[in-house]
Parts: sequence; C-alpha cells; structure tokens
Amino acid sequence: MDRLARYLFLIVLLVPASTTGAAPIELAPVIIGETADGDDPHVTYEISFPGLKHHEAEVEVRFSGLTVGQTLEVRMSRTSPGRYALHEFAKNVHGVRAYDGEGNVLPIEHINPHQWDVSGHDGTVLFTYTLFADMADGTYSAIDMTHVHLNMPATFMWARGMEDAPIDVSFNVPESDWKIATQLFETGDKYSFHAPDLHYFLDSPTEISDYDLRTWEVDNRQGGTSEIRLAVHHEGTPEVMDAFTESIKKIVEVQYDVFGGPPEYDDNTYTFLVDYLPHVSGDGMEHRNSTYVTGTRPLAADGRTNLGTMAHEFFHQWNVERIRPESLEPFSYETESPSDDLWFAEGVTSYYTGLSIRRAGLLSNEQYASELSSTINSVVNSPGRKLYSAEEMSRQAPFMDRASSWDRTNTANTFLSYYTWGSAIGLALDLSLRSEFNVTLDHFMRRMWKNHGENELPYTSADLKKELTELTGSASFTRSFFSDYIEGNDVADYKSLLHNAGFLVRQNNPDGVLLGMDFEDIDSNVIVSAAPTKGTSFYESGLDLGDRLVSLDGHGVTTAERTRAYLQGKNPGDIVTVEFVHRGRAIRENVLLLFDPTLEVVPFELAGMELTGKIRKFRAEWLDR
Ligand SMILES: [Zn+2]
Repeated sequence: MDRLARYLFLIVLLVPASTTGAAPIELAPVIIGETADGDDPHVTYEISFPGLKHHEAEVEVRFSGLTVGQTLEVRMSRTSPGRYALHEFAKNVHGVRAYDGEGNVLPIEHINPHQWDVSGHDGTVLFTYTLFADMADGTYSAIDMTHVHLNMPATFMWARGMEDAPIDVSFNVPESDWKIATQLFETGDKYSFHAPDLHYFLDSPTEISDYDLRTWEVDNRQGGTSEIRLAVHHEGTPEVMDAFTESIKKIVEVQYDVFGGPPEYDDNTYTFLVDYLPHVSGDGMEHRNSTYVTGTRPLAADGRTNLGTMAHEFFHQWNVERIRPESLEPFSYETESPSDDLWFAEGVTSYYTGLSIRRAGLLSNEQYASELSSTINSVVNSPGRKLYSAEEMSRQAPFMDRASSWDRTNTANTFLSYYTWGSAIGLALDLSLRSEFNVTLDHFMRRMWKNHGENELPYTSADLKKELTELTGSASFTRSFFSDYIEGNDVADYKSLLHNAGFLVRQNNPDGVLLGMDFEDIDSNVIVSAAPTKGTSFYESGLDLGDRLVSLDGHGVTTAERTRAYLQGKNPGDIVTVEFVHRGRAIRENVLLLFDPTLEVVPFELAGMELTGKIRKFRAEWLDR
C-alpha cells in the first residue's frame, strides 16, 4: 500500500465512524499519511540457528515505516504457494516478543491462532520468535545438523498491510562450508538477499547446506543467456551428479522446445533446490524461478528414479507459475484457494512429465507405455470418476493435497487425482489434435504461453476453450471434448487414439478375477488392510477395513499370501463362500467373482503387430525430439 492509498483508507475509516456516532477517538493520535521516521514501509528478516541440534531457529523481523498508532497485525501463514490445503504453520512457533524502535517491550495480543497484534509502537516493530522445524519437503521447513531447508511460509511471519513493502533477509549460516541456494535476488553479500515484495519472498524457498552445485547457461529469448543452477544435497558421488546433470539438461532442452525458450527469469536464473537424503519426505514444489524437490531415493540419472518430479516442477515455470489460473490469484496466505483448473495446471503438467523424459531419450517406448498403462487404468477404472467431473475433482484439492484427516475417509471410492485424470485428458487431447487436426498439444501450450503466460494474464476455463477453438477452428470439437471429459465423467477412447501411435491397449489379466482389496497378517489372523472398492468382487459382501477373514469355501484361511493366491486361482464367474468377523459379528456371504478390468498399454512391436510407415511417423513426431 503506498502512502496516498493509506491516507484515503484512513479517511474512509473516519467518515463512517463520525456519521454513525461511534467515537473516532482511537484514531486521534494518528499522523495521517505520515510515518514516524518518514521512511517507506520496509521489512528486514534475520534468521539464526543457535538451536540447530534441536531443530530450532531464532527469527527477527523488523517492520519499519509503519503508521504510528496503527495496530500491526503479524501473521503466520496457513498456506504455501503451490499447495492447496491448510497447513497451520503457527503451531511450531513459540517465544513471541515485540519491541519498538527504541528497544522498549511492546504489548502483544494473540488474537487468534495465526495472528499477533502489536500496538503502541513508534513506527518500527522488532518482532522475534523461535521456530521448530523438522520436515524437509516442499511445504515445511527442516533445521538439522545436515542442512537448513526453509520453505518461507513455514518459517517467516509477515504483517497485514505490508505485502507490497520490499524485503531484505540475512541468514546466519550455522556451518562455515554451507552455502545458500535460492531464487531470492542476490545483493553482493553472499548471506543477504532481497525480494521486491512479500509474495516473491514467500515464494522463494532456501536451501542452506554443503550441496553439490552445477550451473550452465541457456540461450534466452532476449538474445542473451540465462543461468540454470542445479543445487543438489545428496550422498552420492560426483560422477553420479554429473550424469544426473546431463539428464536434467536434456529435459530442460525438451521443455524449452515446447515453449520456444525459457521465460524471462526475474534474476536471470532458474534454481533447482534438491534434497536426496534418507531423512527427507518425498515431494516437489514449483516456484516462479525455482523448485524445491525432495526424495529419499539416492541420486540417480536414469529416467525412472528421480527425474519425474524434476521434469514436472520445471514444466510448472510455465504452466501454473506464468500460465496462471485466475482462480489462484491473488494467492491467499490466510485461507485455501480452490480452483476448477487443476486438471490443467497439475494434470497437463503431469502429462508432460513422462512425455519430456521420453522425448529426452531417458525412457524407452516400453517404459513410457507402462507409465501410460498406470494413468489410463487409474482413470478408466476409478469409481470416483463417476461422482465428480475433472473440474469438480480439482476443487477437492484442499482435502487431498498433503491434507491430513483424523477420521477415516472414503477417497478410494470418491476421489480420482486431478494429476492422473488431467494427465489422461492431456494424452487424449494431444492424440486427438494430432489425428484430427494435424496440430499438437505443444501448439496449444504455445498459444496459452503467448496469450496468457508471457503477458501473465491469468486464464479461466472459458479462455482454455477459446484458445482450443482458435487452434483447431472447430467449436464443436471444443464443446464435446470439454463437456465429455472435463465437465463430464466420460473417458476418451484410448484404444483407438493410441492405435495411431502404434500402442495396443488390452486387458492385462484377461482370465483373472478382480480383488480390489488387500489383506495383512496380524497376530496369526488375516485382516483386511484395504477395504474392497466399489465395483469389485467383495464390495457387496460388506467386508470392511479391519475385518478378520475366517474361511473361504470352508477352508480356514492361514496367511494373507495364501488367501490372495487362492482367490487369484479362481475364474471370473466363480462363486466363493466367505466367512469373516466384522466388529464382533460372524458373517457368511456368497461372493460372485468379477473379471479383472485392468488394462495395459503395449508397443505394437512387443505385441507382434506391424508398425506401418504411417504409424512410425505419427509416433516419432509425438515421442521423439
Ligand atoms: Zn505440480
């Protein structure tokens, strides 16, 4: 908020107060539109780690250029950019104190779990607290003897009304050989950084450790070069890091091909912050000029271990960071930001994840086909798909995206991930565009980039439809594709779409039965560990989570493995008599075994089918760089 705006804001406050007769006395000492020291609003953070061993940080925030007499509302975020659920970061804060510019203690009112109100200041507030943090992923922070891993909303408090103030931050690095990796703007001092405003600051996670660094230059669209930085904290060898870097370079180039080069990076760099350590929690989170990726698997250069998350998050620098759903703007740090468009923002990004790795030559056609199998299966055979459209499923994100629930949920029957569904929609759209219109999803993404990304004009679903119609010239294609697959509950005909590219879609287990549940051995009993999902053989029997299986066809069950083998040895159409104990009640049911609808995608050449010249060409244009 600039000074004129603040002046107008106070006038608005004063006018209704006097006309309604409410005493405006509280506002009397305000020097309207002026700050005590005449400075513009500014925020400075300093963080240090004397309690490193105990996962603690000491944080000092100096808010200056405040309006004297106005209560400062200091908050801990409840959300993090790129996450769609609430995370309540305030739970790990303690020892909150506030002082004025002279060092006098100020009163604090903790008016709700996330907010501390400070009054009586002189235009400056020094706000201090202790943070506990021990979760290294894309959402939380972790402070330990191996590294300091900071996601900013989980670490730094901020003040309402100061969102536009510039920010400076300095890190008191706990070990002399630890370095700092971040998308924050460099200042010349290697421990101090700058952010133009609060949103950029909160979007700029920071890794402080003895990480392994590789950097390289890429041609940018302004006729110069930009720097890519790959900062990986890992326990592998430099040779594996070199091979990993080569794989990442290939993926970067493949994705630049899609959009015609990199976006304009704010500090002319893009930074991968990566932790491959046994004590982190697997995740990946996109940011404007960086990503934070964590994984417990060791560093590896092959296409199936670590590269998927890297490719996904890198693609987000366009799709979601700059090609931005209007529903996510402005991003709120106080409440959830639900969106209809996550099937596109996350799902189409997921489609490009596997595709980028395939185009980079890091997956074989057979490996790529197996990825498609799992995507198509999840969507075609999902009971949840019949309950919600892809847009409605996107709105489930606040309950699903790293959200926790204390009570049991029914998501196996009601939810289909917008990542998976959107990925399958991306596949169907790409193959439909290629076979019907001789254009591709890459063309569509470039249109979105040109009309909504480069100019950062957030899009709505109406914009997606408009761009699709302009690309194909067919409003009826857009109408039916959206109403069937995005606003409706149908799935595309993957069998015929993939046939054009020389991939066969067939039953994976044509004579097998569909169990759709699982068991485990507990204290010599066979216990249901995953309840039967809707539409599977045992669903109607009422067999439930935690039930004890007693017998099948009169034979007492002994182990989970033998139970599985017995059922898998049956044929679809057979009837099995099952006895089980549900919450103390003995139940006996006859169960009709259903056929297993699981699909698999196989390259023609592995199914003994002919790859014609036309099919080879279609496949090469789609999957080769
Ligand atoms: Zn994502």
